[in-house]
Amino acid sequence: MTNPEDQFARGDAIATIAETFLKSLGPDFRLELAFPELTEDMIARLRSYGTEESFPADATLYTLGDRMTDMFVVLEGKIDIILPSAEGQPNIYARHRKNNFTGEFNLLNSQGAVVEARTLVPSTLLRISRTQLRRLMRAEGDIANVIVAACIWRRIGIVKAGSGGVLLKGRPGDPQMMLLQRFLVRNNYPHRIVDVPAEETDNDSARFPAVTLSDGRITPRPSIPELADELGITELPDPEMICDVAVVGGGPAGLAAAVYAASEGLCTTVIEGMAPGGQAGASSKIENYLGFPAGVSGQQLATRAHLQALKFGVHFAISREVITIEQVDGIHKLTLQGGIPVCARAVVVASGAQYRKLDVENYMKYENRGLHYAATAMESVLCRNQEIVVVGGGNSAGQASLFLSGIAKHVHHLVRRSSFAETMSQYLISRIENSSHITVYTESEIVALDGDRSLEKVSWVNLSTGERTVKDLSAVFVMIGAEPNTGWLFGTVRLDKKGFIRTGGLDAFDQSPYATSMPGIFAVGDVRANSVKRVASAVGEGSVVVSDIHRYLADHRNRLSARPNSTLAALRSVDAATSGANA
Ligand SMILES: Cc1cc2nc3c(=O)[nH]c(=O)nc-3n(C[C@H](O)[C@H](O)[C@H](O)COP(=O)(O)OP(=O)(O)OC[C@H]3O[C@@H](n4cnc5c(N)ncnc54)[C@H](O)[C@@H]3O)c2cc1C
Repeated sequence: MTNPEDQFARGDAIATIAETFLKSLGPDFRLELAFPELTEDMIARLRSYGTEESFPADATLYTLGDRMTDMFVVLEGKIDIILPSAEGQPNIYARHRKNNFTGEFNLLNSQGAVVEARTLVPSTLLRISRTQLRRLMRAEGDIANVIVAACIWRRIGIVKAGSGGVLLKGRPGDPQMMLLQRFLVRNNYPHRIVDVPAEETDNDSARFPAVTLSDGRITPRPSIPELADELGITELPDPEMICDVAVVGGGPAGLAAAVYAASEGLCTTVIEGMAPGGQAGASSKIENYLGFPAGVSGQQLATRAHLQALKFGVHFAISREVITIEQVDGIHKLTLQGGIPVCARAVVVASGAQYRKLDVENYMKYENRGLHYAATAMESVLCRNQEIVVVGGGNSAGQASLFLSGIAKHVHHLVRRSSFAETMSQYLISRIENSSHITVYTESEIVALDGDRSLEKVSWVNLSTGERTVKDLSAVFVMIGAEPNTGWLFGTVRLDKKGFIRTGGLDAFDQSPYATSMPGIFAVGDVRANSVKRVASAVGEGSVVVSDIHRYLADHRNRLSARPNSTLAALRSVDAATSGANA
């Protein structure tokens, strides 16, 4: 592997720029993982997956926005990787030499290129197509691991550099702006924020927030699906294809199911409304997940799992929610936002839960204008040196209080019960009690929210004494549990009284503890009735359900083999009937 110190030790001026730039990413940046040198043995094995090609100096291999780019391995010569800078001047992000290779996160998915690649001198390169790359990822485990690690570290570097990707322009605190920013952050997409003064956005509200794409095009007020499509974040499966497993939800349970299913050879698609990670992605630090003694942020865990799934060939339809599900001739047809169909032999419902809201007048007015449901680095910026409120008695509220107490001036923590004892882990209770930056208000609830454009004042009362507290503050973190995301199932599977999916023992044929009342539809994680609401249990259920799916598919194949080719025809007739009804 390349010694990072040697990487640019060849003395020309541009290499020095790249060296300075990479070093500016800080000591945590794993240069040796981002820019590895393949061994001669690896290169010899790679030759059977690619074709050797010669390029003159200054040849563009791919440019910003290009999709499905090939991977290039340097046999002789040099490739510069160029990142646009905030000032418009391109930066040499890296210089690949003999036995280095091109590509970053977008090598594993359909996202457009966020950097340019150009030969510096006449070069001989091994070009590996996406199809061949997928084949080599399956067959050459050691090389696959080197590529995957490089892809993620390069993306971390590009995001950290803060100059490439898209430009998001709008008024700070604008709800649509926050939604777009959250989408880009949660999907690790490089972007820069440009604040536009309120007067300007008010005068031209149809234009803001606006996104400037890498090719200079400006999209005013894009929806999440529009932006995702532009950037290639959504991968929609071929409508003619029937995949083995469709996983609804890319939280810990869904990601685990996808990794296990794809690694065991099943054709797998994950449909995710927002970004991989689910609720866990909103956690600043998960400290009780096995194997991470110093804790891990939800976003980090999600990114690693997402990458692991991509490595095994999982497709991700990100930014589209499933709206309906129906079964035709033993095949499940999911309809996504925008009417997009996805067909699968088996479905894993891992749609988790969404945050519960407070019952206070004007509540919706302040959503994303002072009311938050996640306490990550993104929200913490809004709390610097401010007094803030956290509401809730569970572990997520406890974690939020502790995390924010290191950034905010003071945290007022409200809980309706008389203590945290029954609802929060003891390690969090002890830390909260020992913090001079957190005041706990037991038996208390918020009774009023006030403010002109955004939250400015919060009032709460003590339910046993009636004492009222009013504070001028602009951020409240609402962490009072969650409700299941099962509305889209529309009576397809049996639910319990609270709307969670009932599983296990419902069908004498299928003894899977994760089987729902509809054969071929399984449910795992927080969305399942009586599940333990934890990352580890969600991951456990997601991985275990795959062996039940194998059993179901084997039986399903036997049953369908009696009626060949009937299924797609049946699905098309449903389409025709539906479009006729809608006309
Ligand atoms: C702030 C916070 C901190 C937490 N901290 C911890 C902790 O420290 N330790 C711990 O063990 N647990 C913690 N938890 C709980 C843990 O995150 C959850 O138990 C876990 O995420 C559940 O995983 P899941 O995959 O079942 O569902 P979720 O994480 O809820 O994921 C469901 C996914 O499905 C998607 N989705 C929903 N409906 C649809 C649809 N119709 N179509 C497509 N996609 C859809 C959602 O966008 C979401 O991404 C925390 C939770 C929160 C909110």
